Amino acid sequence: MSLLPLVGSNTQVPLLDGTTRTYANLDVAASAPALQSVADRVAEVLPWYASVHRGAGYLSQVSTALYEQSREQIGDYVGAREDDVTVITRNTTDSVNLLAGCVPGRVLVLDIEHHANLLPWHRVAAGVSVVAGRDTLAGTIAALADELARETYALVAITGASNVTGEAVPVGEVVTLAHAHGARVFVDGAQLLAHRHFSLAESDADYVAFSGHKLYAPYGAGALVGRRDWLDVGTPYLAGGGAVDDASHDSGIELVETSWQPAPARHEGGSPNVIGAAALAAACTTLGGLAAAELDRHEASLRERLVTGLTALAGVEVVRLWAPEAERKTTGGEPAEPVGVVTFTVAGIEPGRVAAYLSAEHGLGVRDGRFCAQPLLKRLGLTGGAVRASIGIGTSVADVDRLVAGVRSLVEGDVRGEYVLVDGVWTLAEDPRPLVGPAGLTRLADTAGSCGASV
Ligand code: PMP
Repeated sequence: MSLLPLVGSNTQVPLLDGTTRTYANLDVAASAPALQSVADRVAEVLPWYASVHRGAGYLSQVSTALYEQSREQIGDYVGAREDDVTVITRNTTDSVNLLAGCVPGRVLVLDIEHHANLLPWHRVAAGVSVVAGRDTLAGTIAALADELARETYALVAITGASNVTGEAVPVGEVVTLAHAHGARVFVDGAQLLAHRHFSLAESDADYVAFSGHKLYAPYGAGALVGRRDWLDVGTPYLAGGGAVDDASHDSGIELVETSWQPAPARHEGGSPNVIGAAALAAACTTLGGLAAAELDRHEASLRERLVTGLTALAGVEVVRLWAPEAERKTTGGEPAEPVGVVTFTVAGIEPGRVAAYLSAEHGLGVRDGRFCAQPLLKRLGLTGGAVRASIGIGTSVADVDRLVAGVRSLVEGDVRGEYVLVDGVWTLAEDPRPLVGPAGLTRLADTAGSCGASV
């Protein structure tokens, strides 16, 4: 039973045996379906859509107000402090690249991060250090502490929850540690915020970034929220209209003077995504109305059911960053309960084959590959990738049970189709399924992705 109504929750997909089944989307950690309230809000604002920050017409005034009001709602959702600024971006990747142009010193990260929270920091002039995670959370925090004591850092960039294992980082603990060494903290909220409420003010973290498409608002907007000072003077992220106060040319060739706006305009050159911002704000409002305890209960019980079901199967192993650390709760360490993201391997069966089978024979959507976290997967010895199932507000007990039953059938050899590797992608040797989808669709894509989907 979905916690909130979602668009497309009853979408039927064709199976190899000629029947159809309701699609069970267990890949929401990659991108989540739209909340019905978000789709309704988009339909409501579209007739009022016009230029933003650029027109005197009535609809322009409405759209501009809507954009700025959305900014406030998005900031409020993540507990922005009064002097924080909310920059509307495309997604988390965009937000991290933006912040990388504003950090006035070295950055410290762990190797558990998604590429989005690793690669942009290499652009920071003062450089980045990457600390390898240890096999316990306490050991990992201690490794961060050692590095912070050894060298001066402007920023510690850390994920709120791993997009590979769902394990959460005790953000408050990292903040206390970093602040004690004069470093700020950036939280990659791409996963965490889709699963759990988060507040800058409460956690005392300095920045957070997140993506609308993971927050049930897939309309192309994300956000970076946090301390204003660095953002007011950092490298303007998108040079262009709207980002400057004034620009002059000498003899028509050299740009001799540019007076950049402070944040957020400084980083939002070009025409803003007002529909995306309104969609993200609507998602924030709807999700903000969900009691934290209800959300946590839903996720925790489904995750527990999934992990228990999978680990009971011969040859199936659930991937973890850290050994369970029950003792942290008694020694003062902040417990960090995992979110609903579970990655596993099936002995002797390639992850891409598992995913292709679950789709074709069970109507299940899961992710396989290396999850844009290749340094971590290498350290864990998973160079061949793994399979990830993720739980969201629309996930039901029946979805989880269908996945466990599907993996059980696979392990027991109850496989109808013949699966072959074509150009690095596992696919059916012969696929009799009819093409279904929106009007005008001419073919299905293969699942190879730039994040190493099948390899
Ligand atoms: N960080 C984490 C933890 C993620 O899971 C993702 C998306 N998989 C990103 C960053 C990047 O998000 P986006 O693709 O929306 O920029």
